[in-house]
Amino acid sequence: MTNEAWGKLREDLIKRVGRNNYTTWIEPIRLAELRGSLARFEVPTSFFGDWVSRNFSDHILKHLNASGQEVSRLEFFVPSASAPAPRNVAAPVKARPKLAQRRSGADDDLPGAALDARFTFDSFVVGKPNELAHAAARRVAEGGPVTFNPLFLYGGVGLGKTHLMHAIAHELNARQPDLRVLYLSAEQFMYRFVQALRDKQIMDFKEIFRSVDVLMVDDVQFIAGKDSTQEEFFHTFNALVDQNKQIVISADRAPGEIKDLEDRIKSRLQCGLVVDLHPTDYELRLGILQQKAEFYRQQYPGLQIAQGVLDFLAHRITTNVRVLEGALTRLFAFASLVGREITLELAQDCLADILRASDRKLTIEEIQRKVAEHYNIRLSDMIGPKRLRNIARPRQVAMYLAKQLTPRSLPEIGRRFGGRDHTTIMHGVKKIEELMATDSQLNDDLNLLKRLLQG
Ligand code: ADP
Ligand code: MG
Repeated sequence: MTNEAWGKLREDLIKRVGRNNYTTWIEPIRLAELRGSLARFEVPTSFFGDWVSRNFSDHILKHLNASGQEVSRLEFFVPSASAPAPRNVAAPVKARPKLAQRRSGADDDLPGAALDARFTFDSFVVGKPNELAHAAARRVAEGGPVTFNPLFLYGGVGLGKTHLMHAIAHELNARQPDLRVLYLSAEQFMYRFVQALRDKQIMDFKEIFRSVDVLMVDDVQFIAGKDSTQEEFFHTFNALVDQNKQIVISADRAPGEIKDLEDRIKSRLQCGLVVDLHPTDYELRLGILQQKAEFYRQQYPGLQIAQGVLDFLAHRITTNVRVLEGALTRLFAFASLVGREITLELAQDCLADILRASDRKLTIEEIQRKVAEHYNIRLSDMIGPKRLRNIARPRQVAMYLAKQLTPRSLPEIGRRFGGRDHTTIMHGVKKIEELMATDSQLNDDLNLLKRLLQG
């Protein structure tokens, strides 16, 4: 098989891995050789190879086998520098210039925000929902050649975006003290910009922002709709990308979903690696609680925590990590004050308000989001008019789950699905009920989704 044949063949992988994964991970790899049962692929970086190998090997193997190739082993390698540059490779890899002439501590003049000393990679608990974001952040923190630009991290409140960005900054500062690393929120970016305009120091402003080696802007959704700030951000962004400087951006949603953000900025933001932090799952929450509890046990020696308490909290507090942490902090403070062991009962008393708030109802929006994610379609297609089967079916699944898992009426559900009529919703629900009788894959999907949604 030639690389061209592979090129055609791999397109079918879109169905298996989804469009996003396909463009990010499958398209850039090139079949270098097929030797007996071994297929060797060229990848742009070793991080890239590791990721593809860990996450898509099975798919690729199955796919090759299904097309008649008797391959049983895959190997991913980075071509050596002397070899001719392979085609299809994502981004050119250039070394970041060293700024050796700058003494350490030169960052004092940068208008960045203070870093939280607790937000390090050591204190970041990795689980399935944040695995890729963590791996990508680690990669950037190594400070090597820029492989994806920008790194765009997105996800809901309290899922660890800011934590990861600070961790990158700490790590870079430790490894390469001469590097100029600038972290700030989009709000601070706007504030500095407005201030510079007012003080007629816009040239200084531009110069400072264009002189950094790594720029990290947190919560970029904030500048949506703020036209001149967006404009300036866009120019800063382009200037740094042109100089091959690393940029890391966070937002509460994907670039394409940020309203009132200019299209050219959206598409620029999508050029690098876009990674989302998924809502936490039970295991991750437990892991985080265990880590924090360990910390508190050192702070409050002698304080006992009964078995099952952390487990209970991980089950019950599913909103976000910040709330989870707050609960534990309060629990330890309270227990040490009254000098009692932390039991289930004490936890229930002390955290009654948080537990009640966590018993909140599932929303239709959450269902749509999860289902869209699961089937790899856009959230906007959930409510949009497309009738293609691969869109319409997931939409019906979401309608069915909305009916099953929320107390909403059919007309109410219809409104949330782009103003559809209640008969359309009824039809969708019926269709899924019919299919459930025969389609085991659909049943698996529904079970999984229900589990995810109900935490
Ligand atoms: P975001 O910026 O996404 O809203 P933060 O980074 O501010 O969220 O995280 C909220 C809190 O939860 C912080 O105290 C952070 O340390 C903690 N946190 C989030 N995810 C993790 C994780 N995976 N491991 C440890 N702590 C976490
Ligand atoms: Mg944040």
